[in-house]
Amino acid sequence: MREYAYVRANDVAEAIGLASEGPVAYLAGGTNLFDLMREEVERPERVVDISRLPLSAIEELPDGGLRLGALARNAHVAADDRVRRRYPVLARALLNGASPQLRNRATVGGNLLQRTRCRYFYDLGAACNKRTPGAGCDAIGGFDRGHAILGASESCVAVHPSDMCVALAALDATVNLTGPDGDRNVPVSDFHLLPGETPQVETALRKGELVTSVDLPPWPPVRGAYVKVRDRASYAFALVSVAVLLQVEGGRIAVARIALGGVAHKPWRAYGAEELLTGAAADEPVFGAAAAEAVAEARPLRHNAFKTELARRLIRRTLGELS
Ligand code: SF4
Repeated sequence: MREYAYVRANDVAEAIGLASEGPVAYLAGGTNLFDLMREEVERPERVVDISRLPLSAIEELPDGGLRLGALARNAHVAADDRVRRRYPVLARALLNGASPQLRNRATVGGNLLQRTRCRYFYDLGAACNKRTPGAGCDAIGGFDRGHAILGASESCVAVHPSDMCVALAALDATVNLTGPDGDRNVPVSDFHLLPGETPQVETALRKGELVTSVDLPPWPPVRGAYVKVRDRASYAFALVSVAVLLQVEGGRIAVARIALGGVAHKPWRAYGAEELLTGAAADEPVFGAAAAEAVAEARPLRHNAFKTELARRLIRRTLGELS
C-alpha cells in the first residue's frame, strides 16, 4: 500500500473542502476502500475520514417514507424495525450481503459506492479499461463467468456487486448528495451508470460530492422478496439476484417492480417486464412472459450463458411465490 495523508473531517462542509482537490477518497466503513488501496487499484493521496460525521440516523420523512443516513451500518439498517416492516425486501437484501462482521462495518453510502469485484480489475498485471482507460479489457475473451449479460459494452463487461442497491432500485429510492455546488438528489436508478466507453465513470457523483443519505419513498403494502443465487451459501457475490415487489388485487397485478443484480454494471431494472405485468392477470403464463421479457436483450459471454436462464427462472419463480 502506498503512503497517503489521513485527515479526519469534523463536519460535512470540512469534508467537502478537503475532498475537492487531488486524488482523494472518503473513508467510511473502509470495507472496500482498503482492499482497493492494498492492491493499489486506488491510490489516493489523501483519505478523508468521514466516519464520525452525524450521518448515521434512520429517520421518518414527512411523506411517510424513511431516510437512511449514509453512515448507517448495513447491520443496523437490516435490523431496524421500520425497515423490516415497511421495506422487507431491503432488509433481506442487506442480510444476503457479505458477512456479519462486514455488515457491522459497511455503511449505506459505502455500499452504494462499492466497486466491481471483476478479478482483472484487481490484477495490476491485467488490462482493464476501468482501472486504466484505453488499456483494453482482459475479461472479454477471458474467464467471464461472473460478468455481465445486460447493458455491457466493448470497453467493460463488469457487474455491480451490491445486494442492497438491487433492492433500492426496486424500491425507487433516491440518493441525496451534497458537494461544492450545493445539495441535489438523484434517483438510484440514475445514480449508477452503464459502462459505455467510459467504464471508469461509475456513478453520477461529481468531484468532491458526498452521499449524505438515501430516501425510501412510502410504499403501499406490497409483497416483496430478494432472492440471490451464488456459489457459496454465504460471503459470496451474486451470480444472479432478483428483488421483486408485487401487489395483486382481485387477481390482477396492481404494482410490479423487478430489479436484477449480478447481471449488469448497475442494478438492472426490468422496466419492460414491469409494464407487461401491470394490469395483467396474476398467473403463470404472464409471469413466464414477464421473465422472458426481462432477459430478452441479454448478450451472454463465453462462460456465462447460464445467467440468462437463471435470471429468467428466478424471476418467474419469485413472481409465482409472491402472487
Ligand atoms: Fe476492467 Fe471492466 Fe474489463 Fe473487468 S470487465 S477487466 S473491470 S474493463
